[in-house]
Amino acid sequence: MLQASFYSDTIKKRNRRNCCRIKEENVYIPELLKEKRTISFEVFPPKNDKPLEPLMETLRHLYGLDPDFLSVTYGAGGTNAGRATTICNSIAKSGNTVMAHFTCIGLDTEEVKSAIDEFRTAGVQNLLLLRGDLPEGWTGTRGSFDNATELIRSVREVASDMAISAAAYPETHLESDPEQGIEILKEKQDLGVSFFMTQLCYDVDAFACFLEKAQKAGVTAPMVVGVMPVLKAESTIKMTLSNGCSIPADVARLIGRWDKSPEDFRKAGKEYTLQLIERFKNAGADGIHLYTLNKYEDVVDLV
Ligand code: FAD
Repeated sequence: MLQASFYSDTIKKRNRRNCCRIKEENVYIPELLKEKRTISFEVFPPKNDKPLEPLMETLRHLYGLDPDFLSVTYGAGGTNAGRATTICNSIAKSGNTVMAHFTCIGLDTEEVKSAIDEFRTAGVQNLLLLRGDLPEGWTGTRGSFDNATELIRSVREVASDMAISAAAYPETHLESDPEQGIEILKEKQDLGVSFFMTQLCYDVDAFACFLEKAQKAGVTAPMVVGVMPVLKAESTIKMTLSNGCSIPADVARLIGRWDKSPEDFRKAGKEYTLQLIERFKNAGADGIHLYTLNKYEDVVDLV
């Protein structure tokens, strides 16, 4: 794992090169996680035929909430790679810390190397390395890497100046089982992953149990919990079920009670999300990552 002195030396070199305006310190998320429980936001690039400005407007509002970092998702297969890099660059230039998601679906080794170079040029110093969801009908990635573990091993070689994180699944990845899931986390940590970020989860007990098992297996890297704010009944149901996650009784009650009244649901859902965040903190979350879905209005009430 990279050491603090290495990070600060690299930051100084970066600043000398002045490739873009970045924070003077604490641009490596693992360093932030040593100091505090982080709060961060996730945005996604709009489709290529949609304007970027609404997202830029959202970002300006999100910066005002003083997040520890912002992450930018990546379309598996690289469909929106250019936009992801542009958005990362814009965040880095604003003086905020950025983490780029990156998936290996359909990419060969050379394409991965050049994508990492582009992220670096854009001012990215934190990467969340993923396999990506396989498009319908695919049985493999159709690229040089079968899974995120292989991607991490390879990227580690060409990006020793970047902090690397990986995904974790408190309620188990759909294609995996709980034991294998934890073994894979340990393997990724041994390869240099310096923190994990979880899939959305509403079951705090399941998270606590997962964290305990992971720690017993030697997974000591910080665990940042991904929180999808409960704002719409339909999307809450869709996102949980499509990711194989449970809908706990308290969320089911919200849906049953307020399903026909979107505004009441949103209000009750925000209250619930605030309590959920507190419960995750008490259960040992090292950071809270809000899936903001390119919106800022409701986020303001959650931080
Ligand atoms: P992997 O770790 O590769 O796991 C996938 C399968 O491979 C599992 O069955 C696992 O058991 C197996 N596997 C992994 N390593 C090994 C090994 N060493 N030996 C044997 N089997 C192995 N998707 C996007 O397309 N874009 C995004 O921006 C994005 N961001 C995400 C952010 C977070 C926080 C999370 C949790 C997910 C995100 N995803 C994103 C979704 C993610 O790509 C999918 O969940 C995907 O199905 C799995 O990704 P992974 O990196 O966990 O895969």
